[in-house]
Amino acid sequence: MNIRKQIAAANWKMNLSLQESKNLASAISQQDIDAGAGHAVLVAVPFPYLIPVQEILRSKSGYHVCAQNLASVNNGAYTGEVSASMLQSMSISYALIGHSERREYYHETNEILAEKINRALENGINPVFCCGEPLSVREEGRQNEYVEKQLTDSLSHLSKDQMKGFIIAYEPIWAIGTGKTASSEQAQDMHLTIRNWITKQYDADIAASVSILYGGSVKSSNAADIFGKPDVDGGLVGGASLIPDEFKAIISSLKKG
Ligand code: PEP
Repeated sequence: MNIRKQIAAANWKMNLSLQESKNLASAISQQDIDAGAGHAVLVAVPFPYLIPVQEILRSKSGYHVCAQNLASVNNGAYTGEVSASMLQSMSISYALIGHSERREYYHETNEILAEKINRALENGINPVFCCGEPLSVREEGRQNEYVEKQLTDSLSHLSKDQMKGFIIAYEPIWAIGTGKTASSEQAQDMHLTIRNWITKQYDADIAASVSILYGGSVKSSNAADIFGKPDVDGGLVGGASLIPDEFKAIISSLKKG
């Protein structure tokens, strides 16, 4: 039995029609998972598809629909935003927070993301906190301090209880949608850095309870190698999650036992 959840998370981004979404959700949910062994599948879909996809996944143990974002405030005059309390009212219990595309195109800072994490937790939503360095930082060899600062700025105010069972996705920006994957050794190295940060801030038991997912050009051909590393607890998958057989194979690559 794994000490923490092993998770395959799909990020559909801004893709697919409603009908295509339903078809894809139905297709991937054919893949059985061992929910009893701590395996889970999250499917992060555009806001309008949350309810229809939730309807399809509802009967599948261990499958959960996931928002791709939420607002940093709970309600009010914020045209176009969707709040954590709205998601809670729809029984949505997971949300991506801080994906690099949100950071880059919508200027979400570490401080704004700390607020988003707070709104999620206040409303019973499990955040999937995304972090990761750009290529220039990796080339200078400063990736560890860069990611540690993202964690410190956005998460270090959380209590032990809030950090227990938390989900973090490490996604090096240079590997997202580029076809360039971090090697399994590079992934393991950063995941250990993240787990050590949690141990330092909280304690070893809390660190052992946190699922740390790898994201960046994961596909069926590299998933088992990456997920097999001791501190990698599954993946956050963009492009390959839109191809049913690819994502089903990725789900079946989650670490057993
Ligand atoms: C992502 O968007 O989170 C991602 C990892 O994308 P891709 O798998 O396409 O690199």
